Amino acid sequence: MDSKLLAQFENLFLELKKNTLNEMKLEDKNLNLEKGDEVDLSLVDQERAMNLKLLGRQSFLLKKIDGALFKIKNGTFGLCDECDGEIEITRLRARPVATQCISCKEEGERSEGQIHYDKRSHTHGRTFASNVIPLRASSLNEDNVITMNSDI
Ligand SMILES: [Zn+2]
Repeated sequence: MDSKLLAQFENLFLELKKNTLNEMKLEDKNLNLEKGDEVDLSLVDQERAMNLKLLGRQSFLLKKIDGALFKIKNGTFGLCDECDGEIEITRLRARPVATQCISCKEEGERSEGQIHYDKRSHTHGRTFASNVIPLRASSLNEDNVITMNSDI
């Protein structure tokens, strides 16, 4: 990748990092904001949960940005993590934090799909078992209730 293009990406990442950090600061402030008693607490909780989720996503993005900046510094930016081939420039423009070329990415998604399929078939087995367990659990609970009642 030529140095001019590399500098463009570096600027893009620095800008992206600055924006993300600012957003995170803002959300952090919101999280710590004292809410009045009149505010519905469950709404505050929902908002907080959403902010936390967003913060998680943003810190994940920050790690990716830092990784990309590091790669720009050591001259490996734009190279695929898997095959060391060059990541397509159109792909980098669309998704600057991409660390895999399109064919490795697709390969990864295929094997991920395979894992999902395996998980699903495992869950299928468990679903059968969990149908049995709640029955046992509820009968245990009933026993407990009876014991408690007899104590009173
Ligand atoms: Zn690759």
